[in-house]
Amino acid sequence: MINVGVVGAAGRMGKTLVTALQESKELQLSAAIEQAGLPVIGTDAGEIAGVGANGILVAEDLEVACGQVDVLIDFTIAPVTVANVAVCLSQGCKMVIGTTGLDETERKGIKAAAETIAIVHASNFSVGVNATFKLAEIAAAILGDDFDVEITEAHHRHKVDAPSGTAVTLGEVVAATLGRDLGKVAVYGREGFTGERDRQTIGFNSIRAGDIVGDHTVMFAGDGERIEITHRAQSRMNFAMGALRAAVFAAKQDAGLFDMQDVLGLKSINV
Ligand code: NAD
Repeated sequence: MINVGVVGAAGRMGKTLVTALQESKELQLSAAIEQAGLPVIGTDAGEIAGVGANGILVAEDLEVACGQVDVLIDFTIAPVTVANVAVCLSQGCKMVIGTTGLDETERKGIKAAAETIAIVHASNFSVGVNATFKLAEIAAAILGDDFDVEITEAHHRHKVDAPSGTAVTLGEVVAATLGRDLGKVAVYGREGFTGERDRQTIGFNSIRAGDIVGDHTVMFAGDGERIEITHRAQSRMNFAMGALRAAVFAAKQDAGLFDMQDVLGLKSINV
């Protein structure tokens, strides 16, 4: 069994990871870490996740926890992740990092640490989303410039930014495949007298409504036919399952910086 630690164990993703680990045949939860001083310290991580006691009490000392785990899974906030990378580096502990919002300098720090320890870092751990990126790349390569590309995403009413990072990545994948610069061809929403569509543009449309976890569609529309590739997230469990796959992958690497395309072997599929 691979021993896994979860930092931010009482957070939304932390609880989902603890839940997903209950079912794993390759990984076991060996440490759960939370912010020092929180009332959850000393509480059973399984009880916090709502899956029943699992005997792992939430701790606040990452250095001690690192001694008990092969891979640390970190879905917290950028400054915390940066500090955790330093601890993991000193302890030789491998990492799966899901935290978003890291700036250029922080990402460089992760890259430098990955020269010594194995790190999987991805802004989206969903296996389905990463498959969708590849499917969009294949479709763009086949369809070329004869099809108009429109990307639509829908999220819950609490999301504060648009378009979603995943929609932007979809646009980047398609633009790169078609030899376009997304910064120059992206069109965000349309209103009023827009004129005819420029065939080179890639359109983005965002819906914000209710409790939608996250839907993404990339549409390739030609004359007389269209293709739509859609991914729908129904819960956070898809991110957790992807992160667990990444943990199994990381455990087998000595060092290096990897993403979900590496974990899923998608880089070797040439289009
Ligand atoms: P959350 O706020 O529910 O959870 C974060 C947890 O980190 C909290 O429980 C908090 O107490 C804990 N924390 C804060 N400081 C800490 C410290 N010093 N030590 C230990 N724990 C500490 O947030 P969330 O929704 O679970 O998201 C967490 C991160 O994961 C965000 O950056 C989010 O964008 C990202 N995320 C990434 C993916 C992906 O696929 N890569 C998917 C979902 C969320």
